[in-house]
Amino acid sequence: MSIIVHKYGGTSMGSVERIQNVARRVAKWHAAGHQVVVVPSAMSGETNRLLALAKELSPQPDLREQDMLVSTGEQASSALLAMALIKQGTPARSYAGWQIPVLTDGAHTRARIRSIDDVRIRADLDSGRVVIITGFQGVDEDGNVTTLGRGGSDTSAVAVAAALGADECLIFTDVDGVYTTDPRVVPEARRMNVISFEEMLEMASLGSKVLQIRSVEFAGKYHVPVRVLSSLTDPMIPVEIEMVSGTLITFEEDKKMEAAVVSGIAFSRDEAKVTLRNVPDTPGVAYSILGPVAAANIDVDMILQNISLQGMTDFSFTVNRNDYVRTLDLLKNQIGPAVGAGEIVSDDKVAKVSIVGIGMRSHVGVASLMFRTLSEEGINIQMISTSEIKTSVLINDKYMELAVRALHKAFELDQASIQPED
Ligand code: ASP
Ligand code: MG
Repeated sequence: MSIIVHKYGGTSMGSVERIQNVARRVAKWHAAGHQVVVVPSAMSGETNRLLALAKELSPQPDLREQDMLVSTGEQASSALLAMALIKQGTPARSYAGWQIPVLTDGAHTRARIRSIDDVRIRADLDSGRVVIITGFQGVDEDGNVTTLGRGGSDTSAVAVAAALGADECLIFTDVDGVYTTDPRVVPEARRMNVISFEEMLEMASLGSKVLQIRSVEFAGKYHVPVRVLSSLTDPMIPVEIEMVSGTLITFEEDKKMEAAVVSGIAFSRDEAKVTLRNVPDTPGVAYSILGPVAAANIDVDMILQNISLQGMTDFSFTVNRNDYVRTLDLLKNQIGPAVGAGEIVSDDKVAKVSIVGIGMRSHVGVASLMFRTLSEEGINIQMISTSEIKTSVLINDKYMELAVRALHKAFELDQASIQPED
């Protein structure tokens, strides 16, 4: 008998009818002889609704209370799912994070899971019940309810699967898998049958919204097999078919090594670029600039220091667009004067486009095909950053979709022949 964890996103839990559909699907897996644990998100829109109520009361709500508030979304959807299952004749029980408990650190609104007690879960599974555990939340060691950050139910599900040593963690969502790029931008985008864990990690951190990045990190740390698949198909399709559909995140790279050089294209508009002109090019200058930025808890992504001219250089870096105003403030009022910089130039109309693929390790000329493709489209590259398995460029955000389409074509991602075998 295998242990399978199912995670259902907000859209899948979005109405009583959809919850009944989820219940049908879960009951089918249970009837096929699996021990099933379900981790649901709140019904779609509920977390946003609750956050908006909090904002009405205070622009900066107390974070402990905000966690108390938003965690109710998952509590409601979990109880509703348990009711639907019981009504359909499948024994089920729902638990809030603190009841299990799912122990986290105390960082409200962005807590990290420390441990999950499996005693209650196993006892219920062994007595034939489906166990439902609220996504997105836990409890700290002082008994305060915490939440894991937006999209955190993915991480809850993978963590539960890790704690139970589950055979697979199935992430049921409103898309049927991980695509070579967002099909809303490139209609020819293809679903991948498998993607390597490392590629998925890059895709998630570079802007693909399919899985919360922490869930991918968790899967990597504990080697949890994760599959992304659609919850919007007929819930009664056979378990055997569901077991091989969607996209499997695999740790067996050999299977993929000979396949496509580039597997996917990620992009993000959440970028902003700042430049300090005429900074004295002396040892320690990067630290004098980026030290205070880090101290202000602002994540820096790409960094570029120009060659120096008469002892002076230009220093550019990118941050998330949400941190743009704060970063500019810091540069104008603190860092610029401290390092004796000249003018501060900034641009929040930039986007990052990245090609990702473990095949890049063993192939040359990948980045140059990317640059050639962009130059043929007349798109100027402002910054470049690379790792072993990705190349990212920063461009004017006006051309982001054009760049993604051109690259998808240039790397032949629309052609089924290079679909990695599964
Ligand atoms: N309900 C939470 C959110 O909307 C967590 C999740 O859906 O994964 O972010
Ligand atoms: Mg999600």
